[in-house]
Order: sequence, then structure tokens, then C-alpha cells
Amino acid sequence: MKVLIADDSAIPRLILQKTLTSLGHETAAASDGAEAWALYQTFLPDVVLSDWLMPGTNGIELCRQIRGFGSERYTYFVLLTAMTELEHAVTAMTAGADDFMVKPLDKSRLEATLISADRVTGLHHELRDQRAALVRANSLLFDDARRDALTHLGNRLRLTEDLATLQARIDGGGAPACVALIDVDLFKTYNDTYGHPAGDEALRSVARGLTGAIGPADMAYRYGGEEFLVLMPATGLPTATRTLDRIRAAIEAMQIPHPANPAAGVLTISGGIAASSSSPEDLLAWIQFADQALYRAKSEGRNRVMVHHTTNVAA
Ligand code: GH3
Ligand code: MG
Ligand code: MG
Repeated sequence: MKVLIADDSAIPRLILQKTLTSLGHETAAASDGAEAWALYQTFLPDVVLSDWLMPGTNGIELCRQIRGFGSERYTYFVLLTAMTELEHAVTAMTAGADDFMVKPLDKSRLEATLISADRVTGLHHELRDQRAALVRANSLLFDDARRDALTHLGNRLRLTEDLATLQARIDGGGAPACVALIDVDLFKTYNDTYGHPAGDEALRSVARGLTGAIGPADMAYRYGGEEFLVLMPATGLPTATRTLDRIRAAIEAMQIPHPANPAAGVLTISGGIAASSSSPEDLLAWIQFADQALYRAKSEGRNRVMVHHTTNVAA
């Protein structure tokens, strides 16, 4: 272990250092509290053996400083004192010391204390590692809970959170945004033709095409079944319309055979777009406007993108 010795008396300090070295420990020594504190921060010892009475910073103050350091590492602090009164031991323990020893030090007592120190610091480090593993696992769970298992796009939970963030940004005077709903055309007959597993694979392909075609600030979600949603923050209708038609063209260009789709003979999507300015204070109503535009895209022949309250922009 790395042991820091703080003692203003040179002889006991040297004896202690020699004993510790002979026991196989790495040591550093300071002749007063201030020097010990400075050394502590660079040497980062596992154990501090500190004299009680020292000029300047005394042992108790040094212990408080170390406990307040906020390091991830645990330091086992032992106070050395010539005074045997129990009240001093209690003060030391209250200040954060793990143990106290009466000077002159007994070698067996010192060895026993260091065994105990090794055990306690080991447990602390184990706890620290377990805590870090928990934080990592928690972060993975957090991400998993917000990701659609089939397509790996954001799910409804992530959408709800992102919508709240976007709403706050728009309410705070941020630039208007656009939302798009995308629905796979005649997907029921695709499943009927190729089976559900092939349908799942097609949905994954659509998600990949979608992700590749959106802008860097846009966010794509699986909204439900074969429906996807794209949030386009700080985006006006002309840009949003171009993005959606890029998505539509990308999916069509994948040439996923779908003979029952009369529009193209391949898998296609329809899209509906709405700008946040059409419903500034309610983003759910905003999504409904996109849904109305999507409904029109379906009724006007599919494989196209429609804008809420405007005309067909792509076919
Ligand atoms: P439209 O062009 O009007 O949207 O026709 P559609 O057949 O796509 O619409 P409908 O809502 O009738 O059918 C949607 C289909 O999507 C039905 C359902 O089985 C399928 N679907 C929904 N979720 C999944 C999924 O996770 N995997 C698979 N393979 N199919 C799904
Ligand atoms: Mg649908
Ligand atoms: Mg559909």
C-alpha cells in the first residue's frame, strides 16, 4: 500500500518509514500538517499515519481536509498520539479517522492496523467500481427504454420527451419547427404476401432509409406499427418538404418488391407535414395536422408527400 506519514519528530518518523518499507509498503513522509496535505494530493496514499500534535495543521485538521477532498479513492486515516485519553480517540474518530494508535508504536499493532486498512480500502474500491458499473448499466437501460427494439429509432417515450423540449424551445421564442408523419403504403398486403418476418425486415429497411435521408438536426421515431415520425427543429415548410421527398425517393429507390402496390410495384411510403406555426401552443394538435395531410396523401394515390393546408408537392 501507499502510506503517508505525517510527524514533526524526525526520529519516530524515520523509524516508522523504515518499518513500513521493510513490510513492503511504499511511503512518503511529511514533517508537518501543511506539507502532509500538499503531499497527500499528489501521492494519493491508501493510508495516512498522522501524528496528532504538529505545528500548523494538526492531525485532526489534516483528517478533516482529507475527508473533504472528495476523491473517489478511500484513504484509511490513523491518528498517532502520545496521549492515551479516550476522549481524544473519540474526537479523532468523529473527525473521520478510521483508527488511532498510541505512541510509541508497537510493530504488531501497526501490522494489524495495516491489514485492516487494506481490507477497508479494498471494500471501498469494490463499492466504487460497483457504483460505476451501476451508473453505466442505468445509462444503457435509459437508452434502451427510449429506443424501438425493431428499428432502433426513438420510441414514443423519447418522442414525448423531445416534444416537451421542443415545445419549451418554441414557447421561449425559438424558431418554428416542422413535423412529418410517414406511413408505409399497403403494408398489410406486404405482410400477407411475404409474411410477418419479411415485413419486420422491410420496416428496418425503411428506418435505415429514413435515417439516411433526414437532416443532421432532424429526429426520427417509430410512431407505431408501420408509422414513423420525423421532428425537424428550426425548419420551415420548404426545407421540410424537400427532406420528406428525399425520404420518399430513398425508400422507393430501395426497390423492395411489393407487387401488390399498384403505384410503383415496390415498397413506398406516404408522408404528411405540418409546421408548428399552424398550432403554436399544442404539439399534439400539430401532429394531428400532419396526420390529416398524410391521410390526403393516401387518398390521392400514395407514394407522395402532402403539406397541411397546402397542395401536393411530390408524387
Ligand atoms: P395504407 O397504405 O393505407 O397505410 O395501408 P396499410 O395496409 O399499410 O394499412 P393498415 O393500417 O391496414 O395496415 C398496417 C399493417 O402494418 C398491418 C400490420 O400487420 C402491419 N404492421 C404493424 N406493425 C408491424 C410490425 O411491427 N411488423 C410487421 N411485419 N407488420 C406490422
Ligand atoms: Mg398505418
Ligand atoms: Mg400503411
